[in-house]
Amino acid sequence: MVDKMLFNTKLLHGKSTQGFVSGQTLPPISQVSAFRYESMEELEKVFDHKKMGFAYTRIGNPTLAAFEQRISELEGGAGAVSCSSGMSAISSAILAICESGDEIIAGSGLYGGTIGLLHDLEKFGIHTVYAEELNGDAVRRLVNEKTRLVFAELISNPSLKVVPVTEVAQAAHEAGIPLFVDSTTATPFIARPLTLGADAVIHSTSKYLNGGGNSIGGIIVDGGKFKWDVSKHTALAEFAKYGPMAFSVRLRTDIWENLGGCMAPANAFLSYIGTDTLGLRMERICENADKLAHALDKLSGIEVNYLTLPQHAYHEYVDSQLGGYGGGILSFRVGSKERAFSVINSLKYAYIASNIGDIRTLVIHPASTLYVQASREETEAAGVYDDTVRVSVGIEDADDLIDDFTQAIERLENI
Ligand code: PLP
Repeated sequence: MVDKMLFNTKLLHGKSTQGFVSGQTLPPISQVSAFRYESMEELEKVFDHKKMGFAYTRIGNPTLAAFEQRISELEGGAGAVSCSSGMSAISSAILAICESGDEIIAGSGLYGGTIGLLHDLEKFGIHTVYAEELNGDAVRRLVNEKTRLVFAELISNPSLKVVPVTEVAQAAHEAGIPLFVDSTTATPFIARPLTLGADAVIHSTSKYLNGGGNSIGGIIVDGGKFKWDVSKHTALAEFAKYGPMAFSVRLRTDIWENLGGCMAPANAFLSYIGTDTLGLRMERICENADKLAHALDKLSGIEVNYLTLPQHAYHEYVDSQLGGYGGGILSFRVGSKERAFSVINSLKYAYIASNIGDIRTLVIHPASTLYVQASREETEAAGVYDDTVRVSVGIEDADDLIDDFTQAIERLENI
């Protein structure tokens, strides 16, 4: 029955909403460090995976489990691991399958923190090569005997490049390599990369999944179908007996557990209740972003970047891969950093804040904040210039947003 439910019904009546011990309508917050047992024999069985149960929150907790089940269900995965942040999720996922000497192929235009992480991993002997345009041909061109992973953002933030998941997955699979997709900006409402061929999906749950801007978190959902060859992915050698679940098992019982990046139970609760309204919020956010982008596109002196604009380079994917939606992020260029700051400072409603995916509209000058550590080359590859303003569109009334941005841009005539 659950599989037949549509998106919003599944959120409210899917498996992740059932089975709480006292019939609670929401998962109780298990705000504890450890779980107590009647006998040492029982606890021994839990540690030995011979009895279901929880021992210590860093390695498992019922509130985290409810959130993990929910996102896994929405993405169509075989299981999920929740993390303290999106960056913790990305680093745990990579370190579960990559070792010193290995290579990663990544799309360009990644989130600045991810670029920073991949740069950090160079010091641990894990090298990344970037594809200007990540498609099947690029993977075939860049892959070599050291490649262990293809990593992409489904809709990059804020450049809004869209990765053709099916063709990239196919090229990666031909070489025995998995495709991991950061789908933070798309959310399972817009696209489910596992159903398109990706092998794992990662989210910063701090963004749209939570939606209220009240907690940092991340999650990795494993599709559980990739055929791991441990003579290639030697990082999984000890987990070969788990077959297609080797990545999940290594992640949960080894890397994630030992790195110590678990999600806090209270944050899992906040993220769980946030996702109750994911469908409604995303529908409204996408509608608002579409209206705002089209209105701003009519103004002179600015260049608008949004997927549903017909001139956008990745416009074709709106229908073919994104269910007709353009997502909640748009950016525009206004000619100079001074003019970008002026627009941002003149807005009445948008919060000047370093986040995306909130119900409130948020705005930032990414070059002087999110990309301040990145080189000019990396920054421009991410679609960020000195005059770029990034907007994470919220659920306010579209006409108010249009009026507000219009007045802020029209004031530029004097600058
Ligand atoms: N991935 C994307 C696409 C992001 O936009 C972000 C944060 O902005 C992250 C990952 C990192 O997430 P977090 O801030 O939760 O660590």
